[in-house]
Amino acid sequence: MRKYLEAKEITPLGIESEFIRSDITDMTDLEIEAVKVSMQDIMSDKTYVLQIHDCLHDSGGSCVMRGI
Ligand SMILES: [Zn+2]
Repeated sequence: MRKYLEAKEITPLGIESEFIRSDITDMTDLEIEAVKVSMQDIMSDKTYVLQIHDCLHDSGGSCVMRGI
């Protein structure tokens, strides 16, 4: 299963929002933390949510997103 860390900007309806996705499959907690910090850095002037995306596409399931 692939695993992603995503940062999604929250914008009013109809306004395009920033979206970042990083593949964190097989990364250590420390590496994931580093990815997270750089995402927070990029999004620092925006309102956003961070979420973990457990991707079950390949196995025919639905993806699971959970906020962190
Ligand atoms: Zn997915």
